[in-house]
Amino acid sequence: MRVNRRHFAAGLATLVLGAPCARAADGEGGAVSLTYDDGLPSHLDVAAPALERRGLHGTFYVTWDNIVDRVRDWEKMPARGHELGAHTMHHPCNIGPLGPEPFADKEFRPLEAWLDKVAGAARPHDFAYPCDVTDLGPGSANIERARYEALLKRLGMISARNSEGPPNPATWVRRHPYRLQALAVGYDAQPLDVFNYLQRARHERRWAILVFHQVGAGPESDGAVTAAQHEALLDMVLAAGLAVRTVGEQMRRLTSG
Ligand SMILES: [Zn+2]
Repeated sequence: MRVNRRHFAAGLATLVLGAPCARAADGEGGAVSLTYDDGLPSHLDVAAPALERRGLHGTFYVTWDNIVDRVRDWEKMPARGHELGAHTMHHPCNIGPLGPEPFADKEFRPLEAWLDKVAGAARPHDFAYPCDVTDLGPGSANIERARYEALLKRLGMISARNSEGPPNPATWVRRHPYRLQALAVGYDAQPLDVFNYLQRARHERRWAILVFHQVGAGPESDGAVTAAQHEALLDMVLAAGLAVRTVGEQMRRLTSG
């Protein structure tokens, strides 16, 4: 869906102005994770500073091709309190013809080695599916997905995130850690959708995961939000009564013990 950015801004202003007063986000009403896909320069320059001004931390799913020009800046993100997750080396959207091991060698292992180096091997090994595709190799959709999930398990991943679906119940996360559901801001999700999604997470004590792409200046795309819209959405998150946690931290809470 093409996003009308003027409507997006108008809806956002109404919702943020009309949002209930912020209350202590103790997590009793659920949790929310702020995730950023593709390793874009605007994540370093716009998104991360906006998070830090609010004492928040994000989960950044990086693609090597996009971070290689500023790899020194990306290496500093863990020390800034942010989490780095994998989003493959080259962001392939057509993985049907690939076998699991060549796919792992080409798209996973070099990036995992870099992530281990900059964030430590004990880091949460989180992953987000490029293009939301899970059809690895031949067979039915279920067989393809099972093949992909088996590979993620072999690679030591603890979670994998899609970009669609309702907030995650804890039982779903424990049963399907490679099927984390999320809401992609800007594509089909207008401000009212984000607001309703966060409210549902709070009322049903679920885990909401928001997905951002381009933030601030840069090429126009369906998933882009301006810096001001991003800031307003962060304020909406803070007012939602949810605990804000990185993906790895929330996975640890839901799966430990
Ligand atoms: Zn992506």
